[in-house]
Amino acid sequence: MAVHCDTTTVTAGRGVSRAESALKRNLAYAARILSQNGHDDLNQGQVSARLPGWDQFYIKPAVIGFNEACPDDMVAAPVDHSLEHAANCPPELPLHQALYERRPDVNAIIHSHAPYGLMAGAKALAIEPISHEGALFVDALPRFVQTSHTVLEIETGYAIADCLGNCAAVLLVNHGSVVVGETIRAATVMAHALERACRIQLMAAMLPGIPHSVASSDDVERKRRYIYSDTSIKAFWDYCVRTVERNSAEVRQWKTR
Ligand SMILES: [Zn+2]
Repeated sequence: MAVHCDTTTVTAGRGVSRAESALKRNLAYAARILSQNGHDDLNQGQVSARLPGWDQFYIKPAVIGFNEACPDDMVAAPVDHSLEHAANCPPELPLHQALYERRPDVNAIIHSHAPYGLMAGAKALAIEPISHEGALFVDALPRFVQTSHTVLEIETGYAIADCLGNCAAVLLVNHGSVVVGETIRAATVMAHALERACRIQLMAAMLPGIPHSVASSDDVERKRRYIYSDTSIKAFWDYCVRTVERNSAEVRQWKTR
């Protein structure tokens, strides 16, 4: 039987720490950013994050859309799949549990059914360095083909983790995509970049008679290091946060709570 796993359970009675509050707020920001970049669908994906070294994480429930998620919506869940979890955890919880277990370096996971990533996976498009975003995923975007169904079993989660390897993203064929990061900022920026890289690659595929140029391998490496440095990722995140705040009075209240 699932038990309610609220923040008190997570923190052993000491309440929600400042770091946890910030984590939940950043998860809600990430959800809103994903929404404004085309990741919404009725089946809903998830965004989750943990503090480094934690054996638990916070995740957006399935019934809450990216476009409406708030910090207080985030629910705690254990990394250990054998432990009980809150009833309002999303059905694809095993995907997140498997990835956190297999990738200690990962502190944030985004899974969505965004259309361009989904179509790139279905067409088995190899991402080329046509754009800056494309440079991130050259030879670093595996496709998971074992099943296209919702990830309901931990074994499927482990298989996806195996397919992901040490990469930052994996396409789930006829399902969607998964992006991981050391921080929620990095995962969110990478999810944004993945969708744009796939969209541009699909545009190129729609013009088969017109050749296109691609960045050199030297430039690919330089772009990865410079354009997507930690400093740049923070700047990209801050820009996205400002954008969602401009579009929502509700979101602007989060920082004052
Ligand atoms: Zn899914």
